[in-house]
Amino acid sequence: MKRIFKRLGITILVLAILYALVIQIAPGIVDKKYNQVTLKAPYQVSQDARDLYQSLDFVSDLHCDVLLWDRDIAKSHDYGHVDIPRMQESNMALQAFTIVNKTPKNMNFDHNTGDTDNITALTIAQGRSPKSWFNLSERVVSQCQSLDGFAKKSDNQFTVIHSTTEFQNFLNDRKKDKNLTAGFLGIEGAQALEGKIKNLQKVYDAGVRMIGLAHFFDNEVGGSAHGVEKYGLTDFGKEVIREMEEKHMLVDLSHASPKLIDDVLAFSKKPLIVSHTGVKGTCDNIRNLSDSQLKRIAAGNGLIGIAMFKQATCGTDMASTARAIQYTTDLIGVRHVALGSDFDGAVTAHTDVTGLPLLVEELQKLNLSDEDIKLIMGENVKRFLLENLEP
Ligand SMILES: [Zn+2]
Repeated sequence: MKRIFKRLGITILVLAILYALVIQIAPGIVDKKYNQVTLKAPYQVSQDARDLYQSLDFVSDLHCDVLLWDRDIAKSHDYGHVDIPRMQESNMALQAFTIVNKTPKNMNFDHNTGDTDNITALTIAQGRSPKSWFNLSERVVSQCQSLDGFAKKSDNQFTVIHSTTEFQNFLNDRKKDKNLTAGFLGIEGAQALEGKIKNLQKVYDAGVRMIGLAHFFDNEVGGSAHGVEKYGLTDFGKEVIREMEEKHMLVDLSHASPKLIDDVLAFSKKPLIVSHTGVKGTCDNIRNLSDSQLKRIAAGNGLIGIAMFKQATCGTDMASTARAIQYTTDLIGVRHVALGSDFDGAVTAHTDVTGLPLLVEELQKLNLSDEDIKLIMGENVKRFLLENLEP
């Protein structure tokens, strides 16, 4: 008997050591592999573009999935796309941190089910709380807590924003110190609510203020552009939107099926966001928005974040993102256009966050005015949040 216990003890010890090793090594390897750039920093930019970029008061981006990778963003890294020191280096004021919570295996653009999940193994390998291993809303809470942790560690250099009051305070403070940065929390895919309305309160309490209704598969709220049935807004989805609007949470239509976009446009009463997208006008694929969708979202005072990777812009450089921005601006007006990079979203981004001045250079080449560039690079996000977050 004694012997069996001894063996069991040794086995448990070996497994614990192996698990500790996995936690140390695996997440970093996965992070580096999936979040690459076409062009590496440091970036060569014209003096004119650099000057305009540095003069911008408020640079902001609507979509970044860095929390998924468990990267310590309080420190600077030479891989991936975003961390707080690189935000500071690149004069970035506010980043949306969107929480990926479940993605199907063999992910493709037009036909995925929710039967499998890549994120379970990653969550376990990162050594996150066992509560979050098999529970999607807990996974969201865990990533929210990570961001809160980075804010605490940052010595007031980074703040998580939940309301217009907090946002206004941050803007006032940043007038005195351009090194200050902030973020707000979103979710990528309302499957995280697991079909239970009480989980909306749970993620709200954890700090979430924006929800992308669908990700890569159809869920309890509505259909995905990459799903199987690609259906519209469900009854549960209506309940979710009603309560989100009451809570001043932002509804994000990225990855939504065309039917879901139509239904939400008909049902919702508040301005909508598309946090990271391309447009069919410059890159025609299942993921991107049609002219009609863009016009209808803009008519409801919505905001479109233009992405910075190949599958969204049909190009591998900032020129392709600039073309999509110009197309959208011409079609629906500059007030509705913003940045939605999809940094650290398991994409090869054109650049990391310090490459944003290159985008300004490309927008200048397309003859956009300084005033328009200022709105696109962040002022539109500022106005939108001040108008739509809870007081
Ligand atoms: Zn996405």
